[in-house]
Amino acid sequence: MAYSADIIVVGTGIAGLTAASLLQERGFSTLAFEKNSYPGGSCASFRHQGYTFDTGASVFYGFSEDDKSGTLNLHTRIFNRLGVRVPTIPDPVQIHYHLPNGFEVPVFYEKEKFLGALVRRFPHEAAGIRAFYQELEAVYEILSALPAGSLEDFVHVMQVGVRNPGKTMALAVKTFKSMGKTARKYIKDDELLKFIDIESYSWAVQDAVSTPLVNAGICLADRHHGGINYPVGGAGAIPAALCEGIKKFGGAVEFGCDVEEILLRNGRAEGVRLTTGETFTAKAVISNATVWDTFNRLVKDSRYNVPENKFLRAPSWFQLYLGVDAGVVPEGFHVHHIVVDDWERYNNIGGTVYFSAPSVLDPLVAPEGKHVVHAFVTDEMHRWSGYKRGDRAYKQAKEDFGTLVIRRVEKILPGLSDALEVKVFATPLTHQRYLNRYQGSYGPLLYPGQNILQKPQNRTALKGLYIVGDSTFPGQGVIAVTYSGISCASYIARKLGNPLDYLS
Ligand SMILES: Cc1cc2nc3c(=O)[nH]c(=O)nc-3n(C[C@H](O)[C@H](O)[C@H](O)COP(=O)(O)OP(=O)(O)OC[C@H]3O[C@@H](n4cnc5c(N)ncnc54)[C@H](O)[C@@H]3O)c2cc1C
Repeated sequence: MAYSADIIVVGTGIAGLTAASLLQERGFSTLAFEKNSYPGGSCASFRHQGYTFDTGASVFYGFSEDDKSGTLNLHTRIFNRLGVRVPTIPDPVQIHYHLPNGFEVPVFYEKEKFLGALVRRFPHEAAGIRAFYQELEAVYEILSALPAGSLEDFVHVMQVGVRNPGKTMALAVKTFKSMGKTARKYIKDDELLKFIDIESYSWAVQDAVSTPLVNAGICLADRHHGGINYPVGGAGAIPAALCEGIKKFGGAVEFGCDVEEILLRNGRAEGVRLTTGETFTAKAVISNATVWDTFNRLVKDSRYNVPENKFLRAPSWFQLYLGVDAGVVPEGFHVHHIVVDDWERYNNIGGTVYFSAPSVLDPLVAPEGKHVVHAFVTDEMHRWSGYKRGDRAYKQAKEDFGTLVIRRVEKILPGLSDALEVKVFATPLTHQRYLNRYQGSYGPLLYPGQNILQKPQNRTALKGLYIVGDSTFPGQGVIAVTYSGISCASYIARKLGNPLDYLS
């Protein structure tokens, strides 16, 4: 049978692009379809009135050039493999937390500086703080020693196990541990435990008890090794470089192509149909849509439907993209901030304000004398589903809610309202429209107490259909979905008889 390509990828989020680029570089032909006119999904940039805004992500791991950061510098390794360059700027602070009761702490790249600041606030917990963060370090040391591959690939799992028996056993044990329960072994102070909660909530949108220790071992330890690095020109530099790599090796990325259906024959995925009616065939199809969108929308056979409550659905977002006069941003202001006004509400919808001003690091993303500000809070579709795009009532509701969030941001940037030059507000409806994500969700989460290995891997109940992205192991975040792309590409490459070499 003459296929349109060896592998078709539905969606060009970071996960789909990662899988396509590695497979294409290995000699497979790939064809990626993206409904938008640009790649990257929630890790992209858009231009508006001279400003470059990051659509979602702007805290990036995985760009270390330093081999001491082990195997976790996945972006560097992938871009080396593809022979494309993404210049980055190191960020000295991962997140600056502004918490109730005047508790403020920046998470510095230098671990001792960060731990020292925590110990000054909680001197009675000095030993517990060190012991807890050392547990994360231990996870990091294991993970950063193991090559990235697919847990569904028997050869990979055996190779890693035989070469690193001690580390593999230790990791297996740690997959059963929760970050919050581990913290409680060492720490008793309620306020400090709340801090540990916001440390996990900052990326996992779950408290620490619900967050696997293994995930925390990457996010909260690598920030002090590989560090946080911002791609010059904005988040969109990452998907742009992946597309460059795909095209360099002969692959195709087609924009403005909305996949309506994943075509099946005898329980096997054999291609896709676009909304235009065109069909394309492949030996394998990779879906970068969420697990709900893949199995309840793109796969039309209802036997494969996934009940919504099979996973805990993360909320969506209300986002503010602001262009502001630079004068409102004080000298020495950090790029990323999290603001919590009340510990009772930090994990309620809208309870925590996330904030980034990447132009503090990279002046290229704002006009001279200006800064970009991206602020966001969790939100739910049901609050917006009664509105229609373009309606006056919708615009007013966005304006009203946006104004409330701006007031909360003024806690860290007094005078922000008067410094606004540009403002764009995005609701869960926007999130759903741009990303095709069910309910505009941040994605499926594990239920409290579930093991990280219960997150779906890349294979599905349908032969020839694979899933990547934040619905799959290990979960949300750009570096996490990059891992899912690597693991999917590794599995497919071996299955199709031309296994990938480990990234080096
Ligand atoms: C507000 C916000 C802030 C964040 N901040 C950070 C951060 O600072 N650091 C971090 O690491 N992570 C952050 N994240 C999380 C991170 O951005 C995501 O976990 C990750 O980018 C998701 O990647 P993905 O490949 O799974 O899918 P997505 O980014 O959702 O991409 C999927 C792509 O597929 C396309 N698509 C879907 N269905 C179809 C179809 N049928 N046909 C064609 N195309 C289709 C979509 O248009 C989209 O481009 C943030 C996320 C958000 C929303």
